[in-house]
Amino acid sequence: MKINVSRLRKEAGSIEEFQFIIPQLQDMNGVLINKPISVRGRLSNIGEALQLIAQVETGLSVRCDRCLEEVLVPLEFEFIENYCHESDSDEETIENNEYIVFEDDLIDMVQAVRENIILNLPMRVLCAPDCPGICSQCGQNLKEKKCNCSSDTVDPRLAVLAKLKQL
Ligand SMILES: [Zn+2]
Ligand SMILES: [Zn+2]
Repeated sequence: MKINVSRLRKEAGSIEEFQFIIPQLQDMNGVLINKPISVRGRLSNIGEALQLIAQVETGLSVRCDRCLEEVLVPLEFEFIENYCHESDSDEETIENNEYIVFEDDLIDMVQAVRENIILNLPMRVLCAPDCPGICSQCGQNLKEKKCNCSSDTVDPRLAVLAKLKQL
């Protein structure tokens, strides 16, 4: 979604509001987006840069940390980025990553939205707070049915190590 900022660039203090929907994003490092991404916010000319403040709302399809079942989770966050025109940017600020540099009079926010979704991914998702997970011995999804293995609960990651030791 490209926004023409020729007017905004001319006048310090000016503001432009926007709202758009990104139907789907590619190259999300394996993250599955299951809801169109709604982006709204504003671009402000803050003198040395154009500041973007945006609210993002979407939904993700993530695997439960314990049983690997698919869980749909809402994702909502706000992010800020500063954009600097090519002709106003010096090498130091670019190297310090303080600004995203843009050319001509067009700012394309899709890349920033993509990166910020990845930065705001939930760390740990459970299908239910008490999800019993998968039996580390027989692989049974314990949410569906109990198994007959001994009840020693072993962390699935440790179970992998235990298997390696047996070899
Ligand atoms: Zn689960
Ligand atoms: Zn079992």
